[in-house]
Amino acid sequence: MNITRIAHALIARLFFWGNRQCNICGHRVSWFLPYRGGWRSAPPLIRALDIIGSDLDNFECPWCGATDRERHLLMYMHAAGLFDALPGMAVLHFAPERRLSKLIAATIPARYIKCDLYPGAPGVERVDIQAIPYPDKTFDLVIANHVLEHVTDDAGALEEVRRILKPGGYAILQTPFSAKLRETWSDPGIDDDRARLQAYGQEDHVRLFGRSIVERFAAVGFISRVREHRGALEEFDPEKYGVNVAEPFFLFERNDEHAIAGPLGKSG
Ligand SMILES: [Zn+2]
Repeated sequence: MNITRIAHALIARLFFWGNRQCNICGHRVSWFLPYRGGWRSAPPLIRALDIIGSDLDNFECPWCGATDRERHLLMYMHAAGLFDALPGMAVLHFAPERRLSKLIAATIPARYIKCDLYPGAPGVERVDIQAIPYPDKTFDLVIANHVLEHVTDDAGALEEVRRILKPGGYAILQTPFSAKLRETWSDPGIDDDRARLQAYGQEDHVRLFGRSIVERFAAVGFISRVREHRGALEEFDPEKYGVNVAEPFFLFERNDEHAIAGPLGKSG
């Protein structure tokens, strides 16, 4: 963090200029800190396609560092009743966000496994979502918040998530997408950091999901329980809490009654 950003963060901790609030740490703030200069600094194609993902202008809490996608996910989990249900659940959490995972751990789930392809903290197991080293029907809930846009084989990853979920189990599969794009877009020729940044919005993203994202995920054997901020989170003013009102809650339930052999892969 450079000096300017530190000063920006310190001033933002005062709340005389605004009425924003972080729902993770509870602090009132003047503003949330932007991600890499905010939306206006995003690559031209990403802006032209109106990518729906993180709120780049209201990204980080100046007190606790929670990102907008942690704040939004916590709201959505509460609204869906998932947070209150955690004590009875076996949970597998990919790329666990530091603040959100502490709140989840504090509910004392029946089982709570934190994992990452590249674990960067103690207590996080090394797990590739494309080859999950757990038996079938082990977990009640899988959390993968902004993970699938990094994964080479997203259909294979989704089949693995479905496999290790118990019947009726849930998967939270947040990921950026463009409602302007009909199809998900990926091309092996986009093969270096600069091209991936321009095409997909970040150097380590490998695709850009289109508006068929819900059908694409459901085809692997899930029932869509997707909700929108408007409707599910009416009481949360997105501006006050610094979250992207356009970001849906990508909640999916393992489908056992009508296992679908969709275009992306085998299910059953
Ligand atoms: Zn905070």
